[in-house]
Amino acid sequence: MSGKTLHVDKTKQENVMLRRTACRVCGSKKLHKFLSLGPIPLVNKFLGEEQLSSPEDFYPLDVYFCTNCYLVQLLDIVSPQVLFEEYAYLTGASEPMQIHFSKLADEVLENFKLNENSLVIDIGSNDGTLLQCFSKFGLQTLGIEPASNIAQLAEAKGIHTVTDFFDEGCAIKLRKEYGPANVILGTNIFAHVDNLESLMRGINCLLANDGVFIIEVPYLPNLLNNLEFDTIYHEHLSYFAVHPLVYLFRKFGMEILDVKQVPVHGGSIRVFVQRALKQQSQNVDNLLLMERKAMLNSLKTYLKFAEEVVLVKEKLVQLLKTLKKEGAKITGYGAPAKGNVLLNYCKIGRDVLDYVTDTTPFKQGKYTPGTHIPVFPVKKFHEEPPDYALLLAWNYADEILQKESDYRKKGGKFILPIPEPKVI
Ligand SMILES: [Zn+2]
Repeated sequence: MSGKTLHVDKTKQENVMLRRTACRVCGSKKLHKFLSLGPIPLVNKFLGEEQLSSPEDFYPLDVYFCTNCYLVQLLDIVSPQVLFEEYAYLTGASEPMQIHFSKLADEVLENFKLNENSLVIDIGSNDGTLLQCFSKFGLQTLGIEPASNIAQLAEAKGIHTVTDFFDEGCAIKLRKEYGPANVILGTNIFAHVDNLESLMRGINCLLANDGVFIIEVPYLPNLLNNLEFDTIYHEHLSYFAVHPLVYLFRKFGMEILDVKQVPVHGGSIRVFVQRALKQQSQNVDNLLLMERKAMLNSLKTYLKFAEEVVLVKEKLVQLLKTLKKEGAKITGYGAPAKGNVLLNYCKIGRDVLDYVTDTTPFKQGKYTPGTHIPVFPVKKFHEEPPDYALLLAWNYADEILQKESDYRKKGGKFILPIPEPKVI
């Protein structure tokens, strides 16, 4: 996956961008665009110094609502080969995710009858962190990971990993070789996949009759309520509520057994799916009712959201402008993908932020896509503290405020961009 050039040849644009005309879940063409955040570059493609002078590729980032099944989605799809060619997010590196996965494994082991012959498959298994939580209890595990360099890390830990994109064809091969799976996990894949039909046909083929399919997806009401518009980018093709998931699984003879909210990625849902259900958890009806009350079935809800997003942008830009006029030194704290959505959408560049800091080594020494702000290790923030730090990694706000209490004691301020720009 790695070693390709970072820039996509302009003449090959048509190969990397696919435009869908029907809903990803129900096939309806009743699709309404309610928000436009682009054009923006791919937000995980940090640039080397030598790439700053070359033209960068920008892609539309328009968000649509299907009035038939209520799925919120992107229709402009950048091919996964381009999107993920150099990008590698290591789950093993993040401690909160390790704890989260460990709890997930405990929950599965408590609720489903599994033994040493049970096969647990993880789709998009990354470096094997989640499967390790199962293998330590003696279960059989198999990882599926498209990035070969990351799959190798899992193999080195003893987690057997097939290097492949998961789809129906892949599932048929795996079923032949390894037999049916008792548990299939997809904690970081469902929102990223364009062809959900092929994915679900693959699950159908690979899942044992009484097996359970478990996914985690960011939960749409959190995005709407907290105005987390910056979590919308090309890697995230669908923004799920329970309603469209019910629709999708029923097409494949499956039902949601249980669903619960979990505190990752700005608030997600963990969904347990099975074929024949004996009893469905009350949680499913409760969330469906909540979704109806929140009017997630109405285009009006999304148009209102879009208006609020524009307001956040205007307020943030105005705040930064005023501070700059007063001569303040401002930097960015954290350079996550969502930070790059925010910077590009609000057109915040080097004229506003002197630099951004990030703990991820591969971003350091590079420049933010589109806005070309240099990325430094956090050390720089301590050596040359700014008057204000725009908190781009807002999902870690509590931890960061605590970690940087010295900076705040000395008069340094943070700017929280969402749900409403404020200085703290
Ligand atoms: Zn639909």
